[in-house]
Amino acid sequence: MKAYNLHAVGDLRYEDLDMPCCPSGWALVEVRAAGICSSDIPRIFTKGTYHFPTVPGHEFSGVVHSVADSLSDSLVGSPVGVFPLIPCRKCASCKEHRYETCSNYDYIGSRRDGAFAEYVAVPIWNLVRLPHGISFETAAMMEPLAVALHSLKQGKLESGMNVAIVGTGMIGIAAGQWAKKLGASNVIVLGRSDAKREMVERCGLKYGVGTETDGGYDFVLEAVGTPESVDLTLELVRSGGHVVLMGNPSGEMTLSQASYWKILRKQLVVSGTWNSSYDGEEPSDWMEVRTALSDKSITTEGLITHRYDQAEFTKGLKMMREHKEPFCKVMTLWNQ
Ligand SMILES: [Zn+2]
Ligand SMILES: [Zn+2]
Repeated sequence: MKAYNLHAVGDLRYEDLDMPCCPSGWALVEVRAAGICSSDIPRIFTKGTYHFPTVPGHEFSGVVHSVADSLSDSLVGSPVGVFPLIPCRKCASCKEHRYETCSNYDYIGSRRDGAFAEYVAVPIWNLVRLPHGISFETAAMMEPLAVALHSLKQGKLESGMNVAIVGTGMIGIAAGQWAKKLGASNVIVLGRSDAKREMVERCGLKYGVGTETDGGYDFVLEAVGTPESVDLTLELVRSGGHVVLMGNPSGEMTLSQASYWKILRKQLVVSGTWNSSYDGEEPSDWMEVRTALSDKSITTEGLITHRYDQAEFTKGLKMMREHKEPFCKVMTLWNQ
């Protein structure tokens, strides 16, 4: 099979690999769509991953190609999305089914081979069966959509709240869409300039430039990961309001004394968020995402701004790395 295999930092090769092995309890998924996550850019170009070589790619969907055990034969041919985290099932978090905070997890596309390939091996527990009418590229958005939903739940978003999202990345914009669906009275996505206005508005959301906006929001989601955006977040939130920190830090995260005072004097509720919840067919963020995509109360049309065929994959990477044009989700299409 063809795959993009990361041999070292900056050394990604499109090459022929053996089909992944498929142990008992696992399936081979033929990849049809795989999103490039903004975390894939440092993974490939600057920071690397846990070991080399590794095939990256953790936001994907496809069709079950084969299974290891004949008991699961009925899955073959099914369209699926995939929860990419493989929990240890031994740690304290796992025992409470809070797999997103597992202390010893495996992960498809960072710790083990992922989906920038024609085939990927996946435990059957991680397969999310797709109802009719969900396209593969939409199904490949389940992971970031679940991460966005999870962030609002961590901050205990309530209907009627006045919500600001600091940051215009794909997950921030998706969080804005979820906030509206969950009954927020007002939602605004804040960027640094007008460059992202059209993209945000195409997703049905209001756009503002952060520094020109008055404070007083009930709920503010920090979706950038810089000290400046944390300062802005703490400025925008009202007394007694909710703050969720979601942006992956770009470097040291120092808090100014003025911002620290705001947490105290405004008596803020500050939460962190990580990953998303999934527990097979039990209620979770992923099941809510599947329902929302199925009834079309959440759509991905505005979120997917670029598409590349598998052979053109590196063009998508380059565009994201060089920020040549505004982008939201960059999708890659496989086995088409
Ligand atoms: Zn991701
Ligand atoms: Zn665990």
